[in-house]
Parts: sequence; structure tokens; C-alpha cells
Amino acid sequence: MSKPIRVTVWNEGRHEKTNATVRKVYPLGMHTVIAKGLEAAGGFTVRTATLDEPEHGLTEAVLDQTDVLTWWGHMAHADVQDAIVQRVQKRVLEGMGLIVLHSGHFSKIFRALMGTNCSLKWREVAEKERLWVIEPSHPIAEGLGEYVELPNTEMYGERFDIPTPDELVFISWFEGGEVFRSGCCWRRGHGRVFYFRPGHETYPIYYNPEIQRILANAARWATPRLIKADNCPNTKAFEAIPPRTVDMTFSTGSCGSAPVVS
Ligand code: ZN
Repeated sequence: MSKPIRVTVWNEGRHEKTNATVRKVYPLGMHTVIAKGLEAAGGFTVRTATLDEPEHGLTEAVLDQTDVLTWWGHMAHADVQDAIVQRVQKRVLEGMGLIVLHSGHFSKIFRALMGTNCSLKWREVAEKERLWVIEPSHPIAEGLGEYVELPNTEMYGERFDIPTPDELVFISWFEGGEVFRSGCCWRRGHGRVFYFRPGHETYPIYYNPEIQRILANAARWATPRLIKADNCPNTKAFEAIPPRTVDMTFSTGSCGSAPVVS
């Protein structure tokens, strides 16, 4: 039996503290529901971490023991310390998987890894979403049908200002007419990054068995194949290179004359 995948489920956890509607949907925080879904899938050891813990629950020791980190944030992106964002980014580049959920599109860590604004259109009227599986052979789509239908969601619409994904697994259609790239994969350094759109805090999205299956599939896909610290070595040649003297004469071809050294 292969070793369990170590997942850390990170949640900002502020809506649950301040909004009665959200507390009703996720009385123990949405991180506990996401974590339980992964545990039920099997093959994972799961811990949770939240913004209001020391170092946001993401100490060096926690990240060292994390294969895949999931990230849900919304109202308090600015409260995430830059030093912790840099620590997570470094770990992704070394090989840790990262799954960014829903409003995490505007998190510091996602924007740092994408290098773009990550902006989009949005509307909250509890409309229907049809999440189309456009790469059924992709590991993240394993076990799904042609689409997943969510009766009540917040709409996210294009243009989503992201770099073109390396692989696109899901495209959403919304009742109001918009479409959105809802399941996007990238590689950053040795790490794998997956953005997954559904998960607005006032709807019970993370209780949905198909959504739980997608998150488990994504965590398996994002598991590191390699963890390697970055370096930039000055390196010896593999083969012997005879001693050379550098030719200091410059070409005077059609591209211009030799620079004048005064
Ligand atoms: Zn939302």
C-alpha cells in the first residue's frame, strides 16, 4: 500500500466567525468539511490550518510535512503575512502541490504564482452552474460524468485574468449566460497548481459528493513527484574542455562595426 498523501487544508475562516448564514452552512468551518471529504475518500492524512493561528498555521514544520496544500480565502487576503506567502511559494517551487479554491483566485499566493491580476466577473443570485468535464481522461476528472450540476452557485465569468493553463479540465456554464475556466492546471517549478472554482461560502458546495471526488482527485494529481530545494550552482564540465584563449576580435559584418573602446 502506498504512503498516504499528507494534505493541509487551509481556510481563512473569517466568514464562519462573522456571518450567521455561513455559520449555518459550515458550523465548524468549511475546512472541516473539506478535510472530512478527503478523509472519507481514503489515502490521505489530513490536517487543517487557519488564518488566525500563529503563522497562519503554516509553520516551516507544517509545510515540510505537507504534500498538498488547499487554500480557501476571501475577505482577509490582505491579512496573510507576506513572509508566509513567500514560504508557501518557495515550497510550491520545491514540489508541494497547491489547490486554490473559489475566491482564493485573489489570494496573494495565487497571484504570486500566476503573475497576473487573476480578476474575473461575478454575480451572486444563487443561479445554476453546469461544470463541464472537457478532459474526461484527466486524473482530476476520474469517475465523473459529462458534467457536474450545482443548483445554486455564485457566478464567476470570463475574462479570468490568468496565464493560459497548462491543462484545462473544467469549463463552467451559468444560468445567466457566462462561461468560466473552472478547473485549471499549471506547473510552477517542481510543484503542481490546480485552481478549482466552486465553493462560495453561503452554499453547501463542499458537501457535494462529486465536488469532494474532484478535490480528492486533485490532491492525488498535485502530489509531489519530487521535492527539491532550489539552487544555482557553478558547475564543472562533464567532458574535458581544452584550454582556450578568448577571441577578442569582433565581427564587422552587416550587423554593425566593432564597438569603439575609449
Ligand atoms: Zn464567493
